[in-house]
Amino acid sequence: MFATLSDRLTSTFKNLRTKGRLSEADVDATVREIRRALLDADVAVTVVRQFTGAVRERALSAEVSQALNPAQQVVKIVNEELVGILGGETRTLRFAKNPPTVILLAGLQGAGKTTLAGKLALQLKGEGHTPLLVAADLQRPNAVTQLQVVGERAGVPVFAPHPGNQGADDVMPLGADPVAVARAGLEAARTRQHDVLIVDTAGRLGVDAELMRQAADIRDAVQPDEILFVIDAMIGQDAVTTAQAFADGVGFTGVVLSKLDGDARGGAALSVASVTGRPILFASTGEKLTDFEVFHPDRMASRILDMGDVLTLIEQAERAFDADQAEAMAGKLASGEGFTLADFLQQMQQLRKMGSLKKMFGMLPGMAQMRDALDSFDEREVDRIEAIIHSMTPGERDNPKIINGSRRARIARGSGTTATDVNQLLERFDAAQKMMRQMARSGGMPGMPGMGN
Ligand code: GDP
Repeated sequence: MFATLSDRLTSTFKNLRTKGRLSEADVDATVREIRRALLDADVAVTVVRQFTGAVRERALSAEVSQALNPAQQVVKIVNEELVGILGGETRTLRFAKNPPTVILLAGLQGAGKTTLAGKLALQLKGEGHTPLLVAADLQRPNAVTQLQVVGERAGVPVFAPHPGNQGADDVMPLGADPVAVARAGLEAARTRQHDVLIVDTAGRLGVDAELMRQAADIRDAVQPDEILFVIDAMIGQDAVTTAQAFADGVGFTGVVLSKLDGDARGGAALSVASVTGRPILFASTGEKLTDFEVFHPDRMASRILDMGDVLTLIEQAERAFDADQAEAMAGKLASGEGFTLADFLQQMQQLRKMGSLKKMFGMLPGMAQMRDALDSFDEREVDRIEAIIHSMTPGERDNPKIINGSRRARIARGSGTTATDVNQLLERFDAAQKMMRQMARSGGMPGMPGMGN
């Protein structure tokens, strides 16, 4: 996600880093490059203007001229301003004092609302809540079924009108008024003691008055605590106008960026928080129900600036595995000490278990340059790494430096690979180990000592 933007910004800073003092011309050149990178990434013009204005002003101030390392100071400023346009503080869901908490999902058709309903339900269930999903999307023939499928995958009940199921107490005829369905869903949540109600609404391919009216009617009927506007990060400049239309027509308390896994320019989505003044609560990053994260503006900024997002990585590890193992790994990541080939392998296996290897790698710091390699990354690679590491003796695993030519040949034979494969693995491990150490020393941001977190 944001790969191109990230690459562009990273190379802008690389040019800057060779300079000691920064002249006004240096600052202007940098700001110009940043402006171009943001515009090319589809960030809204107003946001770009505000952003570059703030960066320029701060970059020319004493904050930078008196800094020990002016170039790093500029990167720090860009980081802070980026966090600002992404909404500043992390904003989590607000729960009602008197349950059920009602969450209404709004957005265009195909934005990812139904998928999000399932993701949110799964997440909330994991946190001990008892969500109920309501299918108030009765426009699309398959919408109700789709929500039911999603509900089933999440293990969360769905309140929906469906034909031919006489006798169930939530039967309403298909084609029923979505407002009535939403209202009945709320009633059901109350009587069945669900503490969260997630209402999926209909979307259209484009913004229209009827769509807005219906969403507003549902809003009035269920009085949501949160209205989440779901926006497809890939829709480009239209994101801003669509967001504005929903802000005016229905209003919303928060934004969810979906399809952030795509490699679209994505910048329009970055403008939404700033243009509408509403925070981004979640990011959707794939079709699986677990492809879902709380949106942290600071971490997203770090990712865009290729400073890595180790915290999210660790959190996902924690979610997917037993806490002890994850904690041990987190400790090693944080201290940079004692990271061995066995850990490297364990990390690979864990990453694979987590499903989406590439995505995980993208969160590691310093990966912008390696992105091409990552794109050709293949899960079979993990099998190969596994075979190679398993063919090593415990001594070799602890201290790979002892691996000479004959040991290398033996390992290659034992693992059905080549000496080059073994070498490549050792080089990668060496790089990972260095990165861990560097990260530990610089407090999480490799190559930027002294920047802190
Ligand atoms: P709705 O019309 O707003 O309810 O959108 P859906 O939830 O039906 O999603 C539309 C399509 O986008 C479906 O094919 C989903 O599987 C897909 N989708 C939803 N969220 C994501 C995401 O975060 N990443 C990707 N790659 N696909 C997604």
